[in-house]
Order: sequence, then structure tokens, then C-alpha cells
Amino acid sequence: MIRYTKCPLCSSSDIHPALTIVDYTVSQQPFAVLHCNACTARFTQDIPSQTEIGVYYQADSYVSHTDTHKGLVNRLYHLVRSRTLQTKKNWVSKHTGRRTGHLLDIGSGTGAFLNCMQTAQWQCTGLEPDESARKIASTRYGIEAKLPEQLFQLAPQSFDAITMWHVLEHVHTLHDYVQQLASLIKPDGKIFIAVPNYTSLDADLYQAHWAAYDVPRHLYHFSPASMEQLLSKHQLKLVAIQPMWYDSFYVSMLSEKYKNGKGNFIKACWNGLRSNLKALRNPRYCSSLVYVIEKK
Ligand SMILES: [Zn+2]
Repeated sequence: MIRYTKCPLCSSSDIHPALTIVDYTVSQQPFAVLHCNACTARFTQDIPSQTEIGVYYQADSYVSHTDTHKGLVNRLYHLVRSRTLQTKKNWVSKHTGRRTGHLLDIGSGTGAFLNCMQTAQWQCTGLEPDESARKIASTRYGIEAKLPEQLFQLAPQSFDAITMWHVLEHVHTLHDYVQQLASLIKPDGKIFIAVPNYTSLDADLYQAHWAAYDVPRHLYHFSPASMEQLLSKHQLKLVAIQPMWYDSFYVSMLSEKYKNGKGNFIKACWNGLRSNLKALRNPRYCSSLVYVIEKK
């Protein structure tokens, strides 16, 4: 178990408990979420160590790593995922200004995004910790993802784009990872980091039931300001923010389930919509954000 006495993002001691969140997906255990007054990041307290956390990923309902199509929420998740693949590809092209290049996808899962990029003639490298996900990527798309430890063996300045779709919030060695991203990206390359945003309206509405806290798997809960501080520590800077409009609906649906023990499709859609309407005026309030990053 790891007990933080300082903020894992900025090392400030000005931290205090904000919420207590239950792990609704796997263990049903409560975890404290702390808030850092200095950088505004939140983080999960008393987290399982890297060697202990494996059991918290063992659930059929943990859809990020599986391909189950059971249930309305999962079906919607998979429907939306196929739509968002194209959007992700467009973001990479738009912000790198390239039609092809070298791409590193960290947390490549079952390989759907890499397959999409490979089809578009990008040269792709994938890193994925989950063995069954790597096997699916191999049999379905012929993609041979490497183990995450390989991140530190890759050649410096070798990628035009690095993507981490909802991955950084799971990484124990946060600063080592971000520093390595800075080393691997080419001088004119772009890094794309997608993470949930606890400053969104849906997070506000659901509070301790907000599904994207997802403790203890999510170790950090970023705000845009805390992400900018983290990047600046590693000679990186934020150049754009892309809102992920579907996430507010998906997260609201799960949150309704956690709050009331059952789903409420209409209520979830309404809250997702309210959250997105606020984010239309300022994308920094969207439920999930893609931070587009380059070297300072
Ligand atoms: Zn902090």
C-alpha cells in the first residue's frame, strides 16, 4: 500500500481529504481522494502498490480491457468507441500536421486504434500490460504489442505522435513516464494524453458517485491546471485541448448505476447533455479531455 504525504504531482504538503469513493467495479472498498491546494490535482490515497493492484483489474465489467458486449452501457461503449477511433485519428493528423509517421500508443488494449492508424499507413508501436488484450490484438489485427517496460528501451526522439488514451491516470511511476514521453517525442512531434476531468459538471453533479474517479485504478484525478503544472516540470507544454463529448454520457450512465443501484438512461443523458452544454462555452469543463502537448 502507498500512503502519500505529499501531492504526487507537485510535491506540495498542502493536501486534504476531498471525498471518500467506493470501488463499485471490483472490491467495493472505500478509498479517500485527496485534493492538492497547490496544483489542484486530486489523487487516491492508500493505493495498492504496482504488485498489489492487479486484483483490482479482475472484473468482467471492467470494459477497458475486455470486449464484452453484454448490457446496454457496454454496447453503447463499443458503439461509441468505433466512432471515436476516427476522431482520434483526425486529432493526430490535425495536430501533427502529418498524414503518416511514427506512432507510439501506450495502453494499446485490443489494438483497435493502432489498427485504424496502421490502415492509414502510420508505422505503429503499441505497449500493453494485459496479456489477453495483447493476444486479441495479435490474432485480430496482427499487432504485436510490447510490454510497458519497453517504454524505457525505445530510441529517443523517434516518434511523431505518442498517444495515451485514458492511461496516465493508471500509472504508478507518473514522473518517469512523463519524462520518458518528453524524451521519445521528436522536436516537432505531439503527445496526446486523454484523462477524465474532475472539474467537469458531471463530476460536480455526481460527486462521490462520479464513475470516472474509478478508485483505486485511477491513481490521479487531473484538472487542466494540474496537468499544465505536471507538464511544465518535464519541459513540456500544453498546446491544445480537445473535449471528448461522448464520455460525459458514458460516465453519467455508470454514475447513475453507482448512485441508485440501477441505470437511469434518461437522467444520465440529461446530465451528460448539461455537462456538454457547459463545456461548449469552455472545453476545459468537458468530462474527459485530450491534452495535446509538445516540447517547450
Ligand atoms: Zn499538487
